[in-house]
Amino acid sequence: MAGCLRCQRDKVVPVTLDDSMEVCGHAFTAAVPATRCEACGEVVIQGHDLKLFELRVAVELAKAGLRGAEAFKFLRRALQLEPRDLAELLDVPEDFVGYWECGDWPVDPRAQAVLSSLVLARYDAPAALDCLKVLRLPRKLARQVRVHLVDALGQAAKALQFGSSARTEPATA
Ligand SMILES: [Zn+2]
Repeated sequence: MAGCLRCQRDKVVPVTLDDSMEVCGHAFTAAVPATRCEACGEVVIQGHDLKLFELRVAVELAKAGLRGAEAFKFLRRALQLEPRDLAELLDVPEDFVGYWECGDWPVDPRAQAVLSSLVLARYDAPAALDCLKVLRLPRKLARQVRVHLVDALGQAAKALQFGSSARTEPATA
């Protein structure tokens, strides 16, 4: 393993730490792989692992059928899609995405369903979920949600590559 970015010493060890993010009024926590320098205490989480955490949270939002500006924007960003790219996929003017994400317009349920499908397909392809159905009948999502980065260093990492068919365990409620 490479030396510490801060102190340059060769004391960097892999660790797992709890990280949290607040999205749409829900606090999500996951054990995230990181490194810690035993000399200076510097902790580093790779951007890749943070992206994986975001994608994992997006899966929970999609499964719960959460609708609205914040959820829509979070899902789009978790997919690392620019507004222009999403607008193209949805075959709508780019402005529409902006209006939905600002709350100027209610999010189009069909657009939300497509976005949710993309999120689930990216991470959780085996979950046979009817996104339109869950939007009509949202599931209850707890205030505190703990998620697990299953195979965080292995299979799920592939989920960040577009077009991947990475498989993961279904999320447990
Ligand atoms: Zn250090």
